[in-house]
Amino acid sequence: MDKVAIAFLYVFALLCLAVGANQGILAALSLWGIGVTLYLGLHLQRQYQLLDWLKSPNNKSLPDASGHWAAIFETLKNFVNRYQAQTSELSDSMSRFKNAVSVLPDGVVIFNQHQQVEWCNPSAESQLGLNLWRDQDQKLNAGVHHAEAVRYLEAGHYETPLNIKSKSNPRVDLELHVYTFGTQQKIMICQDVSQTQKLDAMRRDFIANVSHELRTPLTVVGGFLETLHDIPNAVSQQYLHHITLMEQQTQRMRHLVDDLLTLSRIESDANVPENNEISMQGLLERVLSNAQGLSLGRHKITHDIAPNLWIIGAEDEIYSACSNLLNNAIRYTPEHGHIHVIWKGTDMGATYSVIDTGIGIPKEHIARLTERFYRVDKSRSRDTGGTGLGLSIVKHILMRHQAQLKIDSIEHEGSTFSILFPKARVITK
Ligand code: ADP
Repeated sequence: MDKVAIAFLYVFALLCLAVGANQGILAALSLWGIGVTLYLGLHLQRQYQLLDWLKSPNNKSLPDASGHWAAIFETLKNFVNRYQAQTSELSDSMSRFKNAVSVLPDGVVIFNQHQQVEWCNPSAESQLGLNLWRDQDQKLNAGVHHAEAVRYLEAGHYETPLNIKSKSNPRVDLELHVYTFGTQQKIMICQDVSQTQKLDAMRRDFIANVSHELRTPLTVVGGFLETLHDIPNAVSQQYLHHITLMEQQTQRMRHLVDDLLTLSRIESDANVPENNEISMQGLLERVLSNAQGLSLGRHKITHDIAPNLWIIGAEDEIYSACSNLLNNAIRYTPEHGHIHVIWKGTDMGATYSVIDTGIGIPKEHIARLTERFYRVDKSRSRDTGGTGLGLSIVKHILMRHQAQLKIDSIEHEGSTFSILFPKARVITK
């Protein structure tokens, strides 16, 4: 209440008291009643004017008022002006953003919290079969839009991107990423990766061809060296040592070529070739017996294997991954060390773990171990017959089975390499 209104109220109250003293209480109350009614009427009129103005503040001028009503009108007008300026700034930014994203070669789709299309750019329209005019505020539909993209969006597992063919041109390979933001809103980005994939395929083919070409000469050289070694007195004692070294190196190269061929075969085929039901108990017995042969009694090897847990996948690949981890444990654990193999069910599916008391791995190397030819200690890897490709092969095999490799290690204390299989690949019999 402003000062004038308060002063007026006091004067009016005094006037009523004076009238009361002169004319009696009834006259005073009547005067007070008339005054209050007029005062209320004035306020109701202002309220009505305010409501009327708020309905369309742009079209109507601010009502005339004095006192605190004038202040209220003025403050509200400022609010409205500021709100309108912000809205127009926001809509300018939004249209600048849309214009910029519209010229991107990557497809961009924005979904609201109900998974309905809020906006998409022209690239996304052609890549996924969308039409903004038709599909805005609609959910994606596998019958109309890219079915695989719809399934991927609905499944909600966005850790690994989805590779699909473009709906408008099947020769274009797309990589699809989904990110969640705000309140369950999503943004989908579709990148054209055809060129990268072509280069990758060329690199893989090149490695596979070179490895293949090297196989025959290596077999011939290895064969001759073996014959020379085996024929008594074919080579003088002086050179026998050299022949043995040549044989070992040839053998190493053969392993390298075999690993390169395995890697390029697995890499070039994204789908698991067979989906057999594999008895992990039987498979791990073979892995363990092979490992005993490699250890030659130098290590204590124990195991704890759940007999009833089976895996769905390619048996030779699962065997290779499990045996690779166990063989590494033997190669990187000094004599008398302990190696423990575990196969058990978990809440997420099932886990195969190889725990060793070996040399361990410094923390900074762990994240890079699955890179091709990445070794912590090159000479130790070579001395124990390693090619530097083992864990890379394991990683690719696991990717094909939607499984994960987990590595925990403490330098000089030991390591635990685990394969985490998802529930969908585990059967209990
Ligand atoms: P390599 O043929 O060199 O063993 P891998 O790809 O199998 O190649 O392993 C990569 C590197 O990881 C190895 O060179 C070694 O440094 C490290 N590594 C693997 N397993 C173990 C282990 N159980 N203990 C310690 N280091 C390991």
